[in-house]
Amino acid sequence: MRLFDLSGKVAVVTGGNGGIGFGMARGLAEAGCAIVVAGRNADKSARAVKELQGLGVRAAAVAANVADEAAVAALIKRTAEDFGRVDIVINNAGTNIRKLPQDLSLDEWHHVMDTNLTSAFLVSKAAYPHMKRQGGGKVINIGSMMSIFGVRFSPAYAPSKGGIVQLTKALATAWAVDNIQVNAVLPGWIDTELTQSARREVAGLHDSVLRRTPAGRWGVIEDMAGVAVFLAGPGSDFVTGTAIPVDGGYSIQG
Ligand code: NDP
Repeated sequence: MRLFDLSGKVAVVTGGNGGIGFGMARGLAEAGCAIVVAGRNADKSARAVKELQGLGVRAAAVAANVADEAAVAALIKRTAEDFGRVDIVINNAGTNIRKLPQDLSLDEWHHVMDTNLTSAFLVSKAAYPHMKRQGGGKVINIGSMMSIFGVRFSPAYAPSKGGIVQLTKALATAWAVDNIQVNAVLPGWIDTELTQSARREVAGLHDSVLRRTPAGRWGVIEDMAGVAVFLAGPGSDFVTGTAIPVDGGYSIQG
């Protein structure tokens, strides 16, 4: 269906070699999109690229620390040179350091903010001239339930994810004139490496998520594909600046 057809498009997915990023990359690939996966772990990236290529699309990995401006510039340049265009970016790379605020060092604060928030600014900014020249584009930023809520063990993660929602609005208003739509996705609790470590580190987390989520289950990475295809394709051409929860109802539970 044309509204969800991404053939001929090229997407850069940061952290697209695993977890939510890979779930979204696979959704885009199934809709015909070529994918550039940006991550640091070469083995993980190679496995992801192989699976994406198996879906019949072009895919490649570029090793990049997305918190580094020069690395981000090289990532976008290489994508434009090798694939000919940059239509979609998914700013998904993220990390967390789970400590009480009084125990978090300034270096740890910067590490989380740079990985989760500054990276989204850098990648979007580097992609912008290509999207503008092509007559449009799509930026999809990954927030969190902690874009809305606070928790005691995420003093840098929650501000970084709150910032993602406001960055989304700022970019959306600035770039609407260029036909670039910028939206955020707020995942609920999704089973990935990140949340497997959370379940080890935070006692009772697994069961409290099950109790609080109306859908009665943890999300899986396949749950993240549909929203990515919608926000990457022509079906969302008049949707911009929003933050869409994909959370089994977690954020509307009273
Ligand atoms: P994962 O740990 O599975 O994936 C994180 C990805 O980010 C990895 O692929 C990693 O690749 C990449 N990454 C981390 N730091 C960098 C960096 N500096 N440069 C390049 N790539 C980097 O976690 P999730 O899939 O769970 O998380 C993905 C996003 O979704 C994050 O932004 C997270 O905050 C968010 N999220 C997750 C939720 C969940 O329940 N899982 C809930 C809400 C939000 P590599 O190892 O190769 O560097």
